[in-house]
Amino acid sequence: DRLTGSDASDLERAAEAALRPRRLDEFVGQRVVRDQLSLVLDAAIGRGSSPDHVLLSGPPGLGKTTLAMIIAAELGASLRVTSGPAIQHAGDLAAVLSSLDEGEVLFIDEIHRLARPAEELLYVAMEDFRVDVVVGKGAGASAIPLTLPRFTVVGATTRAGLLPAPLRDRFGFTGHLDFYSSDELERVLTRSAGLLGSALQPQAASELASRSRGTPRIANRLLRRVRDWAEVRGDGSMDLRAARAALEVYEVDDLGLDRLDRAVLRALCTRFAGGPVGLTTLAVTVGEEPETVETVAEPFLVREGLMGRTPRGRVATPAAWAHLGLTPPADGAT
Ligand code: ADP
Repeated sequence: DRLTGSDASDLERAAEAALRPRRLDEFVGQRVVRDQLSLVLDAAIGRGSSPDHVLLSGPPGLGKTTLAMIIAAELGASLRVTSGPAIQHAGDLAAVLSSLDEGEVLFIDEIHRLARPAEELLYVAMEDFRVDVVVGKGAGASAIPLTLPRFTVVGATTRAGLLPAPLRDRFGFTGHLDFYSSDELERVLTRSAGLLGSALQPQAASELASRSRGTPRIANRLLRRVRDWAEVRGDGSMDLRAARAALEVYEVDDLGLDRLDRAVLRALCTRFAGGPVGLTTLAVTVGEEPETVETVAEPFLVREGLMGRTPRGRVATPAAWAHLGLTPPADGAT
């Protein structure tokens, strides 16, 4: 529904799969994380053992799942995928853990959303490669300790700060993914266009890159819409005209802001005189979950210098007023 929302629908996951880099050297940008990770992996491969557990943090759509898949591929290991919300009970996690094979990589997306009992079971398993399987019920229940083979957890979170310290400490390596530069997104786009079998003209690549909110998922999504436009309304070539026209159809503005971003900024300026206002109040005003506003809209608005975070709440910056074409109140409440 949202063209520039950073989360992927199930349908989109299929389209994304075709564009995913398979190896570390195909992964564009994030040089620091890539270097560090390649060292961790090469060392483990050299020793013939499993690497430390890896935590990847950063906003949605920046490549956490892709990196988890790459880690497994580089290790020549198979990958198991689950997520915090998918694990309802500690028992569900115990079942996943006790079925792992030696050397497997277990990817846990949204690991900050694991329920507490599952989380506790996980950090014991990560540290001691052991899980207590509870047999029976009530007073007759007993815990049977089960030794697990060596495995590697790759956890992904949009909010590393939310992870309790005992869990965070079990990760030997934490990589923080940051928004991509326009140059990097141009490389992502050109690579993707090649995989789609169409040529993307450099000016079009540059236009799309600068309006993709620093996020490869959004860049690839815009690319597919430009291809649609070029095929249906244009002459088939993905040039600047097609790029601009498609961006206009989908209401992506010149900074790459979409409807939610603009709604958040507009509410901040017009309903709260530029703030400060608490995150929850702001989210309710635009009809969104606070978590969506905090993890999807806010990081980008802050990075673009349109929103500030203060101890008393979110504030609109002068650039936000200017971007919306509004005049800040005369008392300087910006
Ligand atoms: P996350 O798990 O952080 O939400 P994903 O790993 O699912 O993000 O990435 C979203 C899409 O963006 C994938 O389809 C992938 O093809 C693309 N992508 C992400 N990072 C890169 C990158 N560094 N180079 C090329 N493509 C990327």
